[in-house]
Amino acid sequence: MTRTITILGATGSVGLATLDLVSTAAEGEFSLTALTAHTKARELAELALRFRPRFTALADSTRAHLLEAALAGSGLRWGAGPAAVLEAASMDADWTMAAIVGAAGLAPTLSAVKRGRIVALANKEALVCAGRLFMECAQQSGAVILPVDSEHNAIFQALGGVAASRVRRIILTASGGPFRTASREVMALASARDAVAHPVWSMGAKISVDSATMMNKGLEVIEACHLFGLPPEKVDVIVHPESIVHGLVEHVDGGLLAQMGSPDMRIPIAHALGWPDRIATSVSRLDLPALGRLTFETPDPERFPALDLARSAFLAGGASPIILNAANEVAVDAFLNGHVGFLDIAAVVAESLERGEGLALGPIDDFDAVYAADHAARQLAAGQVAARARRGGTAARGV
Ligand code: NAD
Ligand code: MG
Repeated sequence: MTRTITILGATGSVGLATLDLVSTAAEGEFSLTALTAHTKARELAELALRFRPRFTALADSTRAHLLEAALAGSGLRWGAGPAAVLEAASMDADWTMAAIVGAAGLAPTLSAVKRGRIVALANKEALVCAGRLFMECAQQSGAVILPVDSEHNAIFQALGGVAASRVRRIILTASGGPFRTASREVMALASARDAVAHPVWSMGAKISVDSATMMNKGLEVIEACHLFGLPPEKVDVIVHPESIVHGLVEHVDGGLLAQMGSPDMRIPIAHALGWPDRIATSVSRLDLPALGRLTFETPDPERFPALDLARSAFLAGGASPIILNAANEVAVDAFLNGHVGFLDIAAVVAESLERGEGLALGPIDDFDAVYAADHAARQLAAGQVAARARRGGTAARGV
């Protein structure tokens, strides 16, 4: 039977990898319900003309004319603005890829979750900001959440049906990013181009910077706690520069199960796309003798403070994970635009968490509280960024 699919964030790294798998699948295996993007109107239109979804949505309505012009005469239905993205997410697809980057992905992803079908979750920020509420919503609707983040997808597979509550611990691997062996002095002078040049994975700009600070792994620890219902002390992180082992489960009998593969997001995406079956991909196969050896290291909390910031924010609870995420998004954006230096990113997050108490945000009991806290935290972090930019940052350097 044909599986109908929607891709939220179709023009991004994960979105395009998903469409690559769809394009190489057998005729009739998949059909597109909706495609969405933020600003890349022409790219979105090209994808729509090629894959002919029932609906195409562009979040940035100021660029709607570009989509309109490109789709003129095609007979394809389209819309623009955040409401159009929500409309796309609420259409009745069997399978939705949630691959919008950042907290902006929360509302559209929730729309898909509320429909109670399969949601392939790449957007980790949604779980960081609203993990408990998000998972409750999935439980109520009956939606199946399939982790696409490679580490979480690996753990999902390595659990092999054993309840996560019965395992000794899980281990997320981290490549260590481009500054794995760099000193703080070198990191202080890093440009956006240096930070985005990931040694192993090819990804969007924001997650590439998150990998360089290791905030990505911090966000993933929180993501894992929510996805698998585990306390943070049962979620370990080890650095594995080759990025061949994506995640491990240590079972109570002492055995460790790992999932391995080339560092190519099409593997976890294909797992989710075919689930509960398997689909073939043309991803390059692992040549273990050619690899020779796999190495593992303990992360360095001094050079990568983001990891501990994320753990503490999760333990503090309330609005702290929302502040962590919002401040990180604001600081990464400022870094990518050359307003602050690389080391300022974690510093802005730490300062925002400290000053966040002054925001007097109430309990996070519903999604409105999540959105309000996210908004307030962004303003707070923007103030920290502006103050640092005025002081010249740790060493602000443009691309
Ligand atoms: P990307 O920047 O390449 O793409 C992001 C997509 O989201 C684009 O299609 C963009 O148009 C859309 N988008 C951005 N802002 C939006 C907004 N305000 N409203 C609507 N749409 C918006 O990002 P990516 O690397 O594909 O990552 C997507 C998500 O998947 C992130 O949450 C990331 O952490 C996660 N993820 C990515 C990878 C990877 O290999 N790229 C791996 C694991 C997890
Ligand atoms: Mg990951």
